[in-house]
Amino acid sequence: MTEPKNIIVGQVETKNVMTKSNGPLGGYAVNPYVGCPHACKYCYASFMKRFTGHTEDWGTFMDVKDWPAIKDPTKYAGQKVIIGTVTDGYNQLEEKYGRTRKILEELKDSGADILICTKSDLVLRDLDLLLEINKKCNLTVSWSINTLDENFREDMDDAVPIARRIEAMKTVYDAGIRTVCFISPVFPGITDIEAIIERTREQCDLVWLENLNLRGGFKKTIMDYIADKYPDLLPLYERIYTKKDRSYFEDLEKKAEDLARRYGCRFIDNETPYERVEKGHPTIVDYFYHEEVRGTANSGVRNKK
Ligand code: SF4
Repeated sequence: MTEPKNIIVGQVETKNVMTKSNGPLGGYAVNPYVGCPHACKYCYASFMKRFTGHTEDWGTFMDVKDWPAIKDPTKYAGQKVIIGTVTDGYNQLEEKYGRTRKILEELKDSGADILICTKSDLVLRDLDLLLEINKKCNLTVSWSINTLDENFREDMDDAVPIARRIEAMKTVYDAGIRTVCFISPVFPGITDIEAIIERTREQCDLVWLENLNLRGGFKKTIMDYIADKYPDLLPLYERIYTKKDRSYFEDLEKKAEDLARRYGCRFIDNETPYERVEKGHPTIVDYFYHEEVRGTANSGVRNKK
């Protein structure tokens, strides 16, 4: 089990915790903390450091946000609200500070389309509240799982072990709440999408697939890691991330489509309206190169740049 680690904790006041999102799903992003102790090696959110004045290493600091109560939560009715786009709202400090529980209580009767993204099972603490929310809002809880290999997981993040994420997903699913198995980021040659779908398909409504995207400071970190731990894969990573060869992910798309056919699942390239599906047949959503998916209508025709 990953031990809680020492984090430098601060406090910040923010006028509005609901931020208009530029992400592929649109709507609002809610991040009850600044920073994230999960410290994933591939974290795209580490760019946040630039905007917050933090000089410490990503994963070693966290600011607990405070905000004025949301006066009219119903103004978010029907809007997508994503909790945890640049932090995990259910990180280890949530146990003490309860900021994610606070925002969920504020949005409880909003009628919003709420998505919680996590790599933790702390979400189970709030199952009572989630069930209440699920009566008035469309609620979805998503767990990121990109491996079943605990050694690789430990190399990549300080979040909870995969088995605990899978167990939490099952509990939430069995309680009647829509769940997502977010296979992200898919590491070429390492992430076994078939094994993960096989393991989770009885307890999720959606499987999301997202490729590893290497940019900014962490490209070197990941390439060095592959050279050290998976040297046989280095030529493949160079092909994909230096020469921009997309054939690996194009082949993986075909494989995902085949798996969808085998399991009787829908295979689409964009989010659909909120829905639950028959157990064992999660809708598989292809978000590979998701910047091209934005605004498409599941036509398979991407908005290529
Ligand atoms: S859980 Fe998400 S926000 Fe936190 S470090 Fe990992 S990738 Fe970044």
